[in-house]
Amino acid sequence: MTIIGVDIGGTNFRAGAVTEDGTIIKFEKTPTKSVVRSGDVLSDIAAYLKAFAEDLDYSAVAIGFPATLDPERKKVIQAPNIPFMENLPVCDYLNAELGVPVLAERDVTYALCYDMNKYHIPEEGLSCGIYFGTGIGNAISIDGRFHAGRCGAAGELGHIPVLGSSVMCGCGNIGCLEAVAGGKALVRIQQEYFPDTQIGALFTEHGDEKVLLDFIDGMAVAVATEVNILDPDHVLVGGGVMKMPDFPKEYLHECILKRVRKPLPANELNIIYTDDEKDKSVIGGAVYARRSLCMASEL
Ligand SMILES: [Zn+2]
Repeated sequence: MTIIGVDIGGTNFRAGAVTEDGTIIKFEKTPTKSVVRSGDVLSDIAAYLKAFAEDLDYSAVAIGFPATLDPERKKVIQAPNIPFMENLPVCDYLNAELGVPVLAERDVTYALCYDMNKYHIPEEGLSCGIYFGTGIGNAISIDGRFHAGRCGAAGELGHIPVLGSSVMCGCGNIGCLEAVAGGKALVRIQQEYFPDTQIGALFTEHGDEKVLLDFIDGMAVAVATEVNILDPDHVLVGGGVMKMPDFPKEYLHECILKRVRKPLPANELNIIYTDDEKDKSVIGGAVYARRSLCMASEL
């Protein structure tokens, strides 16, 4: 069965029709503003999906959001980059319009789903994905289920408070970890310390400077915090920051080992540094939907 994975971002919508073996047979990247153009957001999205799927035989749609979702995963609660999606009955509306199950999740959950599938991580046990992109994305899988928390807001590793930091975070709090260790923090470092260097050349030209070494240590703090709390079976670490030219992966690993509790879980630490495929959350959404629908049919 073919499943349509959709990634709704502030800049683009990405939609992919994904077959059972994970192949994308049709893909479209469309500017968000050309999809969401009337005052009726859900009707715009339904029209977009109907046009995309016109010639397709598909059995479900999985939508990924850079957002906080409700615990039932039916709607977006808070989304700084896509505020037009907040508090709309997205799954119920699209389900009625399209006539197939429509699932919603955080985009990082789909990324972890993709990676667990790709790296053959068993569903049993605890796996966590930590992705350094614009912020710090985090998803936690416990025995094949993704931990949402009581309010749906679990896995906000990027918003762990850093004592002594006064940097304003996009979430409105002061001193969150991602405000010093995510992609936005890297842009701030570039503007403040290396204005003459392109962001992509930061590690190539200034990788030895203290401010960047501290940035890497901040990433390590994020990983070690999660590891020290959860003692996971597998830790998958990735995201766009790590794909930058000359990113010091070995130094990051060193810093993580330095920060993780000894002797355990440090001695048994199982970290996989993942590749950052661009359609991870589209394919991961399809993997997630396939798994969820299988689970539901077994109940
Ligand atoms: Zn925050």
